[in-house]
Amino acid sequence: MIDLRSDTVTKPTDEMRRAMAQAEVGDDVYGEDPTVNLLEEEAAVWLGKEAALLVPTGTMGNQVAVMTHCLPGDEVFVEAEAHLYWYENGGIARLSLAQPRQIQTADGRLTPELLAAALRPANIHYTTARLVCVENTHNRAGGRVQRKADFDALASFAHAQGLKVHLDGARLANAAVAQGLSLAQAAEGADSVMCCLSKGLCAPVGSVLAGTREYIDRARKGRKLLGGGMRQAGVLAAAGLISIRSLVPRLAEDHRLAKAIAEELAQLPGVVCDPANVETNMVMVDLDRPADPVVRTLAHEGLLCGTAGPRRIRLVTHRDVAGVHAGEVAKAFAAALSQ
Ligand SMILES: *Cc1c(COP(=O)(O)O)cnc(C)c1O
Repeated sequence: MIDLRSDTVTKPTDEMRRAMAQAEVGDDVYGEDPTVNLLEEEAAVWLGKEAALLVPTGTMGNQVAVMTHCLPGDEVFVEAEAHLYWYENGGIARLSLAQPRQIQTADGRLTPELLAAALRPANIHYTTARLVCVENTHNRAGGRVQRKADFDALASFAHAQGLKVHLDGARLANAAVAQGLSLAQAAEGADSVMCCLSKGLCAPVGSVLAGTREYIDRARKGRKLLGGGMRQAGVLAAAGLISIRSLVPRLAEDHRLAKAIAEELAQLPGVVCDPANVETNMVMVDLDRPADPVVRTLAHEGLLCGTAGPRRIRLVTHRDVAGVHAGEVAKAFAAALSQ
C-alpha cells in the first residue's frame, strides 16, 4: 500500500524509537522532565522565540495560542479556509469565547489589503479586534507557501493596527525548506507560532507552541486547563528532538516527489493537476467525476488518498513513501480512472 492520505501517517523512525526507550524522564507538570525541558529550549531557538511549550497536538497548540491572546468577545481574523476555523470543532468560539471572522482569499494567502478591508474602526458597537491567524503552509489551499516577505508585510501591518499575529505553522518546516529559510526566519513576524512534530517530521505525538516567555508562561496554564499537562512526556519529547535536529532538510525530498507526481498526473485524461501549484508536499487533483468512488478504486489499486472536495483528491508525500516513484502513482490513477 502507498499511503498518501497525510504526512501524519509517518511512523517514528528507528532512531526515534531508540531515543524514546532511553529517554530520561520526570513529571513534567512539576517541570521535572529533563527531556521535555530540553525539547522546549531547543524548540524556542528553532522557532526564534524566547520560550516554547510541548503540546500533544497541533489543535491544542492553536487553541491554547488563541486563548492566551484573547479575551472573551474579541475578534479573531482567520483566512476562510484555515484549519483553525474548519477543523477544530469551533474551538475559537467554544474555548476562547472569541468571535472568528473569516477573510476570503484566492489561494489561502492573507494580505495586508484583505485584512485592512476586514478591519473596522473603534466604535461602541464593535468588538475588539485582537488577533490574526495565518496558516503556513496552507493545508486546504494545497500546501501553499506564504513567502517570508509577504508574511512580514502582513505581520507589520497587523501590529501597526494593534493586532497580535498567530502563525499556524503545522507545516512551517515545509514552508521554510521550500524557501531555503530557517523556521526562525519564517516565523519572525509572529507573536506566537505552533509547529507540528507529528506530521512530515515523523514524531509519533507532539507539537510545539512558541512565543515570549511571559506568553508561554500563560499558555502553560491554558494547556493545563485543556488537560494537556502530561507527566513523563519525555518519551515523546525524545522523538521530537530528533524531528527538530535532523528531519527538516529531508522534506525537500517530499517536495520533489509531490512535484513529480503532479507532473505525471497532469498528463492523464479526466484530471486537472497543475504542477506549478505544488509548492511543498501536497498535490491537489481535480477530477471530471465525483472523487469518493475514485478514492475507493484507488485503494484497490494499492493507493490510499483522501478527498479535499466533491471532485478533488488530495495526495500528501512524506518520509514513509520516499521510495515510491511518481510513475507508480500515475499508474494507479490511470487504472482507477479507466474503470
Ligand atoms: C494538522 C494541522 C493542525 C492540527 O494538528 P493536529 O496535531 O492534527 O491536531 C493545525 N493546523 C494545520 C494547518 C494542520 O494541517
